[in-house]
Amino acid sequence: MKLENKVCIVTGANRGIGKEICRKFVEEGATVLGFARNLEDLKKVEEELNVLNKGFFRGYKVDVSNSEEVNNAVKDIFNEYKRIDVLVNNAGVAKDMLLLLMKEEDFDFVINVNLKGVFLVTKAVAKVMRKQKEGSIINISSVVGIDGNIGQTNYSASKSGVIGMTKTWAKELTMRGEQIRVNAVAPGFIETDMTKNLDEELKKEALKRILLRRLGNAEEVAKVVLFLACDDSSYITGQVIRIDGGLSL
Ligand code: NAD
Repeated sequence: MKLENKVCIVTGANRGIGKEICRKFVEEGATVLGFARNLEDLKKVEEELNVLNKGFFRGYKVDVSNSEEVNNAVKDIFNEYKRIDVLVNNAGVAKDMLLLLMKEEDFDFVINVNLKGVFLVTKAVAKVMRKQKEGSIINISSVVGIDGNIGQTNYSASKSGVIGMTKTWAKELTMRGEQIRVNAVAPGFIETDMTKNLDEELKKEALKRILLRRLGNAEEVAKVVLFLACDDSSYITGQVIRIDGGLSL
């Protein structure tokens, strides 16, 4: 198993891509500590994943944009497990609107979760990784963080910021010879709650531009995240991997 005895934190663990990442990690023998705001949903994930009898999943009620909740949860995890091997910053929100109509509060909301949330969780976890001198951090960005997208000023800004932080941390967290790797993935159109209400016209247009002529699924993202989390990618850091069915060409 690729993550046996590894302690992994995954944010946004209660559904969508985050839940599939947790499933993959548990299947590979990991102890997975999942963050989300909804404890009821997390309990359901616990029931679903712990019957696999492989790794182990436990949910923590944490809003990633709240530094106190983040720091307390990371402290509890460190006290119990004594190390953190992998962090996946997956939690994210979208509130789309054209620039001229976007409300300041909606800009702040998306930046607070998608950008500040990644900063807060990584800062808390990096302290632990720094001491143990190794670890793998995977940030979930988006193709719109590279290409931009109409109606997504706040979201694309947050996802570009995540790429900037990924490259910065890849440099900073190896300054003393540590083996801490930091990478990002940039999914395109993936079928989850986030995309289920997409305008049908927009979906049709997107499908024309995707070489594989279909949306991706959460497992296809989780497989790449697993690769970046485990030793199979031991010489890869500071990279952004697109998972977009060829949308970029
Ligand atoms: P989703 O809406 O199904 O899941 C988002 C997750 O984030 C949920 O588990 C939710 O509980 C969690 N979350 C939201 N705000 C939070 C907060 N403040 N604190 C803790 N958890 C919080 O969406 P998804 O499609 O599974 O998205 C997962 C990630 O992938 C996001 O970062 C998203 O931006 C990114 N992404 C998705 C797509 C796509 O097409 N679905 C494409 C590119 C990138």
